[in-house]
Parts: sequence; structure tokens; C-alpha cells
Amino acid sequence: MSSSPQPAGPPAPDLQAMLADLRALVEIESPSTDPVGVGRVMDAVEGWARALHGQAHALPGGTRQFNFGVDGSARPVLILTHADTVWPHGTLQTMPFRVEGDRAYGPGTYDMKGGIVAALHALRALNGEWPRGGVRMLLTPDEETGSASSRGHIEAAARGARAVLVVEPPVANSHALKIGRKGVGDFGLGFRGVASHAGNKPEEGASAITEAAHAVLAVQALAQPEIGTTVSAGLIRGGSAGNVIPAECSFQVDVRVSTLEEGERVTQAIEALKPRDPRVHLTVTGGLNRPPFEFGPGTRALFAQAQAIAAELGFTVGGEVVGGGSDGNFTAPLAPTLDGLGAPGDGAHAAHEHVRLDRWSDHVRLLTRLIGEV
Ligand SMILES: [Zn+2]
Repeated sequence: MSSSPQPAGPPAPDLQAMLADLRALVEIESPSTDPVGVGRVMDAVEGWARALHGQAHALPGGTRQFNFGVDGSARPVLILTHADTVWPHGTLQTMPFRVEGDRAYGPGTYDMKGGIVAALHALRALNGEWPRGGVRMLLTPDEETGSASSRGHIEAAARGARAVLVVEPPVANSHALKIGRKGVGDFGLGFRGVASHAGNKPEEGASAITEAAHAVLAVQALAQPEIGTTVSAGLIRGGSAGNVIPAECSFQVDVRVSTLEEGERVTQAIEALKPRDPRVHLTVTGGLNRPPFEFGPGTRALFAQAQAIAAELGFTVGGEVVGGGSDGNFTAPLAPTLDGLGAPGDGAHAAHEHVRLDRWSDHVRLLTRLIGEV
């Protein structure tokens, strides 16, 4: 018998069973562009969910929803997963699933088939004792390409949830959770002026390039890097010849923001731009694609809870605000959201993608406690 105190439950999950499930999912190639492959991953997950007495629903657009003990007595806990990967068909031939030491390699292991397996094993560990209001899990087909078909389902589920747990991987080679992500905007500004001979009749022309030049400076002046807002005109084209007053000019703007307020401020300012010369017409397209996932009060509380649970389980979790987006960007404005609860490892979207088997069990135990206690 050990003389040292046992860490607080839940018991360690069955790592060999998790590995077998991970292998089964990884060996079904599921690029976002292939609904058949994505559907086969979903079928496998649905079988496991039904074995845990989950109720499965196919939603329009290819998302599946699994309900575990959802009975209307309280808002359920929402778990977000995606079945697609960035890896094209044929990747397994050069990057087969394999275990070397403490690492399980293969396409989609870390992002996020390991997260799907983690969620199911965390649910299994609850042994049918669902938290008040139950657990809802969404499995989406298109996270890697921007979640066009699933965003509405994700937002609707988040509105009805008391907390959202995203099983994207934690920060590489750590247990660090993702506690914020920047919002991303992409705008196009198109100017149409009046062409004229630059030598003979310049006064009859209205330069689209001149207006665009003023607008580039005006737009970039909206940046406030000290609070996380960056604005960059990254691509510009215009004019037809050196001796013609240009009738056309357009440019694209990349916007990153740390708060929704800043996203709205920059969007409104860009949409309110007016050419100085009334003969020039301006068209603005685009907007904020993913709202910022702010480290707000809801996320702070969830993160504090996760840190306390991890300490009881005998390990430490940090937290980082990261630049890349996830479906957590959609839910964070609607419900308390914590991200990075999937499988520890490294190499998302890279050839050395892998899950760290020596860290995985602890992360699953943390997820089990969070599902049961948030
Ligand atoms: Zn992912």
C-alpha cells in the first residue's frame, strides 16, 4: 500500500481504451471537404454516444448533437467537438497512426480526434450520473474551414447552455488552457471614380487612387495596439495606365481585436468612411468573421475552477490568450467558455502532430470533474 495520500478522484481513465478509440477515428480520413469521411467519423462517435445512453440527433448541414441526461431541469453543459481535419485523403500513407514512447502520432490526433475521445471517456467516467440539466455535445463537420454550416447550431446551443467546454487541444506541450482568442475581421474597400486624360483634362477626372490613399491612412489610424486592436491594409490594386486619372482602386484590410466593443468601433468607422470627392463612390464589403473570445468574467470563473480541480488532482494548469480562432469564439459572447480541454500534445496542422500519452489521463480527469461540477 502506498503511504502517500491518493489524489481526489475521478479514477484514471483507461488509456489503452482511449488509444484504441483514437486509432479508430484517426484511421478514418476526414478532410473538411469530404462529407462521407466526416460522416464515418460521426457514425463511430454516435455508436459510442449511444452506448453511454446518449440521444443522437442529425441537424441540418451535417452537425450531430448528442444529449446525455438533458431533461430541462437546468441549462445543460455544452461540449464542442469537430470531426473534420485539415489533412487530405492519402495522408495516412505517409503519416500513419503510430505510438512511439509517450506519443501517439497521426493526422488529427491532437486537433481534435484526441479531444473527441477525451470527451467520451470523461462522460463514461461519470457513470450515468449526469450533472443537473445534463450534457449536450455537438460534433460539427467544418470547423477547419470556418464553421459556415454549423455556426447557427453552435450559437443556439450556447445560448441555452450554462457553460461551454471546448475540447480543442491545450497549448502545445503543456496543460495550459485557452482562455481567450482574438477576433478576426476582413474588409474590402472598393473605390469607383472618373477616368480622364491626366495631361489634357485632369480636372474632368476623379481619382480612385487618391481616395483610397486617404482611406488607407484613415483605416490604419483606427488601430490601438496597446489594447490589442491591429489594422493593416495588406493588398491594394488600382489604376489602368500612368497617364490616366484612375477610375478604380480597391484594397483589403485585416483587423484583429481583443474585445467586441473594439470590433464594433472599427467596423462602424470603416463603414462610415466617405470619399472626399463626391464623384467617387465607395463600397465596403466584409466584416468581423469571428468575434473575439474575451477573457471575461464567465471564462475567469471557469478557469479558476479548472485550476482548483487540477491542483486537487496533483498537477498545474496555466492559461493563455492565443491568436488563432476556434468555435469558442462564437460561444464566448453567449455563455461562459473554456477552451483547450482536449488532448495535450503538439503539431496541429503539422507533420509531427501527436498526443502526449503521459499527460492525457490527467487532462481527461480534469474534464470529467469540470463536466460534473460547472
Ligand atoms: Zn480544431
